[in-house]
Parts: sequence; C-alpha cells; structure tokens
Amino acid sequence: MDLKIVILGPPGSGKGTQTERLCAELGFTKISTGDLLREAVRTGTPLGVKAKGFMDAGKLVPNELVMDLIKEKLKSVKGPVILDGFPRNLEQAEMLDKITKIDMAIDLEVNEDKLVKRLTLRRTCKDCNSVFHLEFNPPKVAGKCDKCGGELFQRSDDIERTVRERLRVYKESTLPLTNYYTKKGILKMIEGEGDIGAIYQRIVKAIKTK
Ligand code: AMP
Repeated sequence: MDLKIVILGPPGSGKGTQTERLCAELGFTKISTGDLLREAVRTGTPLGVKAKGFMDAGKLVPNELVMDLIKEKLKSVKGPVILDGFPRNLEQAEMLDKITKIDMAIDLEVNEDKLVKRLTLRRTCKDCNSVFHLEFNPPKVAGKCDKCGGELFQRSDDIERTVRERLRVYKESTLPLTNYYTKKGILKMIEGEGDIGAIYQRIVKAIKTK
C-alpha cells in the first residue's frame, strides 16, 4: 500500500533529517512546503516574493499560498509520500483530508529547551536541502554537504529571535493538530531525543506496525 504520512513536531525536532532517511531507505517521496517555499524565494517567483516576508519573520505563509503548492505536488508524485511541514494548522489539515487520505501522523517529541540550540546550530545544503548540525551531526568537511558536496548555509529563519517566534507559532497553530490526528486514531508519538539512528528505528517500527 502506498502510505501517506504527515510528520509533525516543532521546528528543530528532526523532521527533515528523519524524512531524508525514510526517503533514502524506504522509498518515500518527501514533500516539504518549507523546501518548496525556499526554492520559490531563491528563484524569485511571484509566490516566493509574497512568501519571503512571512518566512523571515518566523510567521506562517497564508494558507492559500501553500495549498495550491501542495495540491500540485501531490498530483505529481507516485508511491509512498511523507509530508514534512504540512499541514501547519487546522484549516490546512482539513483541506488535506478533502484531497487525499492520510494514513498516519508522526509526532516527534523534543523538549523545548533543546530546540533553540538545535536550530541555531543547524546548517542546510543549498543544493539538496540535507540538514546538518554543527555539534550533533557535523559535515565531514566543514561547510560542505556530505551527500552532494553543495555549500552549507544557515537558513535566514534559524537565527535566535526568529526561532523563538517559530516556536510560538508552532504551539499556537500546529500543536493542536496532534489532537486532530489523535481523534482520527492515526497519531504515533515518537520520542525525538537522543541518537538520530535510534529515533529513526522508532519511526520505522511505527510505520511497519501500521
Ligand atoms: P520549515 O522549513 O518547515 O521550517 O518552514 C519554513 C517556513 O516556511 C515556516 O516558518 C513558514 O514561514 C513557511 N512554511 C512552511 N510550510 C508552511 C505551511 N504548511 N504553511 C504556512 N507556512 C509554511
């Protein structure tokens, strides 16, 4: 069966890192609204121009801008899919349920104190979006992506002030989604602290027992 999974959890909880591995090892296709929006900003599309100010301020981009993006993307992918960074609020979750069936929601749980450190020391590959952490998951060669050799950069929203706003927005808008998916009986809570490989194994186990 082609599973459709959403991965929830606060910014910095490891959604991107774990999703990458699920794609590499279990054949999932990642759809990340954050990656798609950053690409739109980088290439200066009309969507990117509208989205940039919200992103730099740590706010959510208005729903109508991301909904079209996700609809298009879902149409174009085949096989198992993992949605990273979408939905971010109740309205997006309800819209998603109208266009496709979600089989499972994974919630990565990480203590809030750890998140600021995780995010401010995070570095992202400008070419393939792989994520590294200067302390917990450093690249083999400083400033270069292990996977594609691309240049690593610090996302403009990974500075401390913006990180704190993103965490506030998460609690206000995205955290209620854990209730939404619990009521549907498809939420799996995963302990998101500790060794990256051990967290991955917990996720795989949850998926395989689905
Ligand atoms: P992320 O890479 O998922 O942390 O997203 C980075 C930024 O992109 C967020 O802080 C938002 O400004 C924007 N963004 C990503 N996904 C969404 C979404 N589903 N709805 C609204 N804004 C989003």
